[in-house]
Amino acid sequence: MDVAVRPQAATVMREPSPAGRFGEYGGRYVPESLVPACREVDEAFRAAWSDPRFRSQLTGLLRAYAGRPTALTPAWRLSAELGVTVLLKREDLVHTGSHKINNVLGQALLARRMGKKHLLAETGAGQHGVAAATAAALLGLGCTVFMGERDIERQALNVHRMRMLGATVVPVTTGSRTLKDACSEALRHWVTTVDDAYYCVGSVIGPHPYPWMVREFQRVIGDEARAQCAEHLPAGTPDYVVACVGGGSNAAGTFAGFVDTPARLIGVEAAGGAPLSDGVPGVLHGFRSQLLQDDDGQVREAHSLSAGLDYPGVGPEHAYLRDLGRARYVTADDDEAVAALHRLARTEGILCALESAHAVAWVLRAAGTPELPAGSTVLVTLSGRGDKDMPTLMGETC
Ligand SMILES: *Cc1c(COP(=O)(O)O)cnc(C)c1O
Repeated sequence: MDVAVRPQAATVMREPSPAGRFGEYGGRYVPESLVPACREVDEAFRAAWSDPRFRSQLTGLLRAYAGRPTALTPAWRLSAELGVTVLLKREDLVHTGSHKINNVLGQALLARRMGKKHLLAETGAGQHGVAAATAAALLGLGCTVFMGERDIERQALNVHRMRMLGATVVPVTTGSRTLKDACSEALRHWVTTVDDAYYCVGSVIGPHPYPWMVREFQRVIGDEARAQCAEHLPAGTPDYVVACVGGGSNAAGTFAGFVDTPARLIGVEAAGGAPLSDGVPGVLHGFRSQLLQDDDGQVREAHSLSAGLDYPGVGPEHAYLRDLGRARYVTADDDEAVAALHRLARTEGILCALESAHAVAWVLRAAGTPELPAGSTVLVTLSGRGDKDMPTLMGETC
């Protein structure tokens, strides 16, 4: 792998092609009426991202509001048990409890800079919806969140949170009434409200420029961790960098900080929703990537105990990194994730999100094998805290 990695290191995880391509993936598959809107977002993002004032506004909010930088915590007891050095990047510690706030603060600031009055968002379990509603409240923007009817029933607490934060939650009654349908509905609604509204996408998915832009807003995870690893590790960088992959934003943000180092990058999908292991190329929600599909080319539902990993597609850049061999993607199942969550809780006193527990599960499984040899150093991103999963873990739902 390393032989192939070095020549590419300078070019991977930079800007996609002008058409928004990462290799054969990505692009912009939207109705004609949304092409100008996507272009407007693209131009606005480019201008903002190279404007030091925008950068310092965002950095200021991430510090004073979200609570960055987040800690890098050595997992002492777990490391001793496993025979590998485990460092945890603590996105569970930021405001609202997951990395999603990094992205929504960036996009909400951008929306305001573009003169938009309103955020549109899709949500599955409600984590991105809560983050979007939070950023909207902070910046004085309206917020409408599209959510499948089934998810509304399953995630009553987050629906309540969004409403308390001033957002309107719109039930989506089409299809399977879950995240996939909420994304479709949000895109449809954007067509009719595009003058006033900004579509705030929740992961490294959607039409160009979203996968690239969201990765850039999340790279603060990887950039911070890189600097922190330089202090903690004699070698300066870890041997392995591990993160869970739903749409892929916390993993993309983490990987971006290490893609030019020799670190092996490992993305962990939920076994029941693993387009990088079980998918085929296809188009959904405005972009081309690996997708779960049945024999007739219909999109297959993903199934995972962790709602944040329950998406049939994956960010196009991950499909590209996989094809290049620069990152490797593996799976962990529900039982392994629950076991990992319990083990981390007992050994380190950290109750992480079920999504994040998939990343921990791979470390538990691989430690001491040729996949993750004894004596290695491994950085694991904990994408969020586990409070939202307590009803599931207590057996009250699913
Ligand atoms: C939403 C979510 C995820 C999955 O999203 P990515 O875009 O793959 O990062 C993972 N962990 C938590 C805590 C989440 O809320």
